[in-house]
Amino acid sequence: MSNDRTKVLVIGGGFGGLFCARSLGHADVDVTLLDRAACHVFQPLLYQCATGTLSVGQISRSLREELAEHRNVTTLLGEAVDLDAEARRVIARRPDDTTFTLEYDVLVLAAGMRQSYFGHEEFSKWAPGMKTLDDALSIRRRLYAAFEIAETLPAGPERDGWLTFAIAGGGPTGVELAGQIREMATRALANEFHSIEPEDARVLLFDGGQCVLSGFAPGLSAKAAKILERLGVDLHMGVHVTDVRREGITVTPKGGGSDEEYAARTVLWTAGVEAVPFARRVAEVLGATSDHSGRIAVEADLSVPGHREVIVIGDLVGRDDLPGVAENAMQGGLHAAGCIRHDLAGKPRKDFRYRDLGSAAYISRGHALLEVGPVKLAGFLGWLGWGFIHIAFLTGVQNRISTVATWLSSIARARRTDRTFMLGSPASHEQPYTWSACGPVSTERKQLRT
Ligand SMILES: Cc1cc2nc3c(=O)[nH]c(=O)nc-3n(C[C@H](O)[C@H](O)[C@H](O)COP(=O)(O)OP(=O)(O)OC[C@H]3O[C@@H](n4cnc5c(N)ncnc54)[C@H](O)[C@@H]3O)c2cc1C
Repeated sequence: MSNDRTKVLVIGGGFGGLFCARSLGHADVDVTLLDRAACHVFQPLLYQCATGTLSVGQISRSLREELAEHRNVTTLLGEAVDLDAEARRVIARRPDDTTFTLEYDVLVLAAGMRQSYFGHEEFSKWAPGMKTLDDALSIRRRLYAAFEIAETLPAGPERDGWLTFAIAGGGPTGVELAGQIREMATRALANEFHSIEPEDARVLLFDGGQCVLSGFAPGLSAKAAKILERLGVDLHMGVHVTDVRREGITVTPKGGGSDEEYAARTVLWTAGVEAVPFARRVAEVLGATSDHSGRIAVEADLSVPGHREVIVIGDLVGRDDLPGVAENAMQGGLHAAGCIRHDLAGKPRKDFRYRDLGSAAYISRGHALLEVGPVKLAGFLGWLGWGFIHIAFLTGVQNRISTVATWLSSIARARRTDRTFMLGSPASHEQPYTWSACGPVSTERKQLRT
């Protein structure tokens, strides 16, 4: 590789960044793809990893392995933390907290969004979000451990608290989690316990809107609500979760009225997203406008106004109400690569045109919604369509084959094959059980460390 080739730096190896880097795989440029996790995660199936159907390996792939055949693409582990726009440099942090510098001629910002707690970061201690593999494994630990703890308790309010699962957010992720927890309780765990009846587990789903899955056509979201209720999910619409504690939550009706409290030892948060901190930093350094969630306003070619060399793609794009979906990120990745090729050829860049290929949401076994233009499917046909789409976009042929095999086996039998959860080492600084952070175990941990 010669040093005078155009240096393209892609921040983030999600759908947008991966598609961009892959598409530049044979172009006359040097590409560096930086990701803080070093792997591509198929976020749409995170909830299946969290609830024990799929393994971490089935929904993710090492970026190094994925891009190994492209000799002009270098993949690096690190978190972009700062930008020197004048010198065209990005400062990145290694996991050991040391930093390094990366130069660019073109910067593609594909760092995506993170969970938003709407200014209440303290909720995250009790209510993990659902954006990363760490989140999925944390949720898996909490779900399965809740049933285990309940099994050791006598009948009563404490046990009921452990068998109550509260989910904030009635979008696709909240709905998927709610459905999966009820399915776990009524199928996979149904006959395994002696003291508790797992099917007694209560799943409460809270949302500020009037219906779940409000992004879908009204008829479809009404069907989704019926399916959830049939599964045993309690829907609480028109309310905001306004407090999250160790033992439960408080919800406030949107239209006024008194607060209500619910005892729940497992709370999951899927209610909102916001730009990752580096994206906010980029907007600040470049003087770019961003919306309340941190999406960056861009030109029609997705470049930052006044900075043709910085292209924003995927969830971070703040233009034309583009949806935060994988398809938008993939198309953005291909578009950014196209812009770079046009620049090299001295041709004008094209405007980004998003082609809406529809949306799908899983509800429960045999039930999913699929909306593609005028085609609106719910139930079994929607479920088949959902399955085909997800397999088609899963990264890696091996992952596709093993996921189909796992799904077929979980349809035939109630089992979930990836239920193992980690407790962490008592001597480590991590606190895998947030509920023990203020209890006696943390004292024990402190003693072990000293
Ligand atoms: C649980 C869940 C379910 C979903 N289901 C669906 C679905 O069914 N259908 C659908 O179309 N969409 C779905 N989505 C949305 C879809 O996954 C996103 O729209 C898509 O991933 C956005 O792609 P992206 O490339 O913009 O960002 P991401 O895919 O989020 O990738 C961002 C990457 O940047 C990395 N990164 C972040 N900050 C830094 C930094 N500072 N330095 C280096 N690297 C960084 C991250 O590690 C990550 O790899 C779902 C999302 C979630 C969370």
